[in-house]
Amino acid sequence: MNPSLSVSPIPCPFCGLLCDDLEVAVVAGHARITSAGCARAAGLFDVPGQGQARVRGLAVAPEVAIAAAAGLLAAARRPLIGGLGCDVAGQRAAIALAERVAGVLEHMHGAAQFRNTLAFQDGGWMTTTLSEVRNRADVILFAGTDASAFPRFRERLLTGASQFGPARRRILALLPPSEALPEELGGDLVIPCPREGLAELAGVLRARLAGRRADRDPVAGVPGERIEALLDALRGARYGVLVWNAAELDFPQADLTVAALVDLLKDLNRDTRWAGLPLGGNDGGTSAAQVCAWQTGYPLRTALTASGPRYDPIGFAAERLLARGEVDALLWISALDPARLPPAADCPVIVLGRADMELATAPEVFIPVAVPGVQRAGYLHRMDGIVALPLAAPLACDLPGVAPILTTITEALDHAAA
Ligand code: SF4
Repeated sequence: MNPSLSVSPIPCPFCGLLCDDLEVAVVAGHARITSAGCARAAGLFDVPGQGQARVRGLAVAPEVAIAAAAGLLAAARRPLIGGLGCDVAGQRAAIALAERVAGVLEHMHGAAQFRNTLAFQDGGWMTTTLSEVRNRADVILFAGTDASAFPRFRERLLTGASQFGPARRRILALLPPSEALPEELGGDLVIPCPREGLAELAGVLRARLAGRRADRDPVAGVPGERIEALLDALRGARYGVLVWNAAELDFPQADLTVAALVDLLKDLNRDTRWAGLPLGGNDGGTSAAQVCAWQTGYPLRTALTASGPRYDPIGFAAERLLARGEVDALLWISALDPARLPPAADCPVIVLGRADMELATAPEVFIPVAVPGVQRAGYLHRMDGIVALPLAAPLACDLPGVAPILTTITEALDHAAA
């Protein structure tokens, strides 16, 4: 390996922003970010180039581990193919395997993802792209989030030059009283509002947009005069963007909060232009949803049974399936972040993970895989779902990617059944 090889610019696969401006140098076998990036990316780009396959904790050759995984899946009546933290090729291979074993597909961030999916499937929505936010948005409303889970959100979207000249934006925020908008976001109007109150507040804003009076004051703790100030700011946008992060709306029936925000967007669009920006897409989440939709015609939380795909957004939540013992094997895929460990499961567990994944309990099978975007080229979708970026492999290694391993398992199952 070249002791100091620079590859630039390349995309970072470690959150849904997929920043595509990183400069990476390989020094003494380690990938080092030399320009752009963030602390999260710096930690995750540093990945070992070798790993050890294991069966019940004992070191084995990769082909032995693959055969063991195939045996466990062949014996299962309904396996859960979860995690899905990998690139597009890996997710395609996961779907092919699910079809072979009548498995259920679910992403590791499914709980948050489905707050959006349920709202979207019930009434549709209008969303925008990262480029549109950067180039056109003049009012941005952060609802229940400050976007800090995406370290370079501000740098990449709010402070860069617009394609159409200097950008002037108003920053609005609805955040819980205990949380402040980070100073660097420079909020013009920050209104304390609990996340659980966002749906009620959105409902009253809609009523006011329709010309009706609010029947109470305050609403979700927000005094009437602040609601009117917010309303004026929303109406004054030429291109407004409402930002939320479903992962932070972590309370029962939060899909209804997303639906309320989306309905507010629809009403605002009667007089001016507004769009949504749902934050998310970490660990290949956006790609997993896209690939499942285009391959099967259904969202995730679908079982690929012999009689066809069966979609159950409530019943096929991974947590529920595992808690009720409704699956008899778990295949967990996490090729991007070693901290994304498999959930507790009372069934055989197969893990395809980064070589530096540390598991407290040895699964039945562990197979180390190459990290897409660091050790293997591939594709991932950004959080806005519009762009699939080609990933580079600045630190190519001998570890296989998720896709070839899953394909080998599927072929072994085909072969055994023939
Ligand atoms: S913000 Fe996200 S995509 Fe950008 S460098 Fe950091 S981890 Fe990578």
